[in-house]
Amino acid sequence: MERNINNNAELLPVRIYGDVMLRVKVQPVQHFDDKLRKFVRDLTFTMYKRDGVGLAANQAGQNLRLFVIDTQWSREDAEPHPVVMINPEIHAAEGEYEIEEGCISVPGIFAKVRRFNKIVYSYTDINGIEHREEVEGYKAVVIQHENDHLNGVLFTDRLNKLSQLKIKRKLKALLSTTVDGTNIRTDIFTDQEKELDG
Ligand SMILES: [Zn+2]
Repeated sequence: MERNINNNAELLPVRIYGDVMLRVKVQPVQHFDDKLRKFVRDLTFTMYKRDGVGLAANQAGQNLRLFVIDTQWSREDAEPHPVVMINPEIHAAEGEYEIEEGCISVPGIFAKVRRFNKIVYSYTDINGIEHREEVEGYKAVVIQHENDHLNGVLFTDRLNKLSQLKIKRKLKALLSTTVDGTNIRTDIFTDQEKELDG
């Protein structure tokens, strides 16, 4: 079913495991201009098209410190509620929360990751207004996953040794399509891969 998402936007190619952009510690956003607005629109559109609950700028090849999330998107009847977080920072974290994660940039791989349950974080929105919030549970996990992207960290880096061993071959297969540090897939994901990822 086609849900009502922004048609006035472009689908961006997503960087896949092996691409150097996924390992970059990206730079803070400085210019809140039309170019940024357009990119954010395209990034949000791409997140929905890929059935993700989050997407970071460097997953779409941009060296910018921002991501978009929509933690309500997993519900079938959900209307879009995208939240764009620019120059986010996590100030405090506590507790433990473990859930199976996936990633649009690591298709076909899912594994449980141990993260903090509660975080205090801040970000600037697209209008340049600063926010400081506290959140726990699933949304806190999604923000930690996306914030990791901005530091060049993938969820697969956070797995224990045994889980890492289990996915080793799949990672190697993803890596094998990298050419000169670039790994972009334009094909439609398979049903098995098309789950709710960040
Ligand atoms: Zn991800």
